[in-house]
Amino acid sequence: MDHIIGQSRAIDVLQSSLRSGRVPHAFIFHGPAGVGKFTTALGFARVMLCHEPANDLSGNVAACGACESCKLIPDRPGAAASSAHPDLHLVVKELALYSEDRQTRERKLSNIPLAVLEQHVLQPVSRSALLRHNKVVVVDEAELIDARGQNLLLKTLEEPPAGTYVVLVTSSEHELLPTIRSRCQRVAFLPLPEETIRAWAEEHAHAWSPQSRAWLTDFAGGSLGRAALAVEYDLGRWAQRVLPAIDAAAQGKYPSDLGGAMGAMMDEFAKSWVDRHEKASKDAANKLGASLMWAVITHYARRKMQTLAAKVKPDDPVAAESSLEPWAGVIDAVNDAEREIDANVQMSLASDHLVSRLFRGMTGRV
Ligand SMILES: [Zn+2]
Repeated sequence: MDHIIGQSRAIDVLQSSLRSGRVPHAFIFHGPAGVGKFTTALGFARVMLCHEPANDLSGNVAACGACESCKLIPDRPGAAASSAHPDLHLVVKELALYSEDRQTRERKLSNIPLAVLEQHVLQPVSRSALLRHNKVVVVDEAELIDARGQNLLLKTLEEPPAGTYVVLVTSSEHELLPTIRSRCQRVAFLPLPEETIRAWAEEHAHAWSPQSRAWLTDFAGGSLGRAALAVEYDLGRWAQRVLPAIDAAAQGKYPSDLGGAMGAMMDEFAKSWVDRHEKASKDAANKLGASLMWAVITHYARRKMQTLAAKVKPDDPVAAESSLEPWAGVIDAVNDAEREIDANVQMSLASDHLVSRLFRGMTGRV
């Protein structure tokens, strides 16, 4: 028997609809990035496609693991994503690379193009299931379908053909049209427990120092995806380089080479991102690198504020204010830098500005 792997609360919701025998035709799996939404969707698809799903001893419905359908979907985590099952349709934005339409193939991957939606969702939904059982469509990052595409999808969600199940996976549910949301059963995914991230870090970041691993666990904020990204791109090194310089700035020492160092690290990130993601745009990679750098810094400032706030005596609000102020200044400086990057100011310039702003904000000096 093959069980759905994923978050227990979300799985409870799915299991109760499976047990009741009344499975809604459309779902939204929503919650933070990197907490297992897509993996759970694949596990759910496997059960829905299985020809002989059965209850296990605890009453959960599981895929048999042996039927024609199950054999086509590997149950290793991640492996299902490359399944050749004819009635499992996975939509990820990278599919644009394989579109029948040349223009779609060649464009930058910042959304799920209509052509992809047409080819991988609307057409398969209107055909009958090739294995004469159910069909499942899973759309990852569903918020990347634009309003026109969502309106097309709406028709499918309103009157799904029998045996058709659609799962929209998203970490930005508010970007889905209200009309889409109201037609789907919503399943919430929460940040993963710290224990889970810690155990993962022990295994995947064993070369890191215990101190860096502790940073990683905290920085991940319950997202395994974020932890994995931090390990793949060695963000622990960013923290080691940048955070002590910010501490020194709090002591009044101007971090004169910090802007250049940050710029270089973000640039290195963007280059290796582009190397590892065929067709990724350098511009998008730059922005991702910058947003990670800002995340490293604001995460640290927030932690500092929490620690300081816990030490403050409740009868002295003025002292409280003044001890937190420098760190609030760091967050403000990062927000400014973020706006600059959005306005296409060069990264190296934005990092220089950030450093002088955060120094000014922390010390009141120019
Ligand atoms: Zn089966």
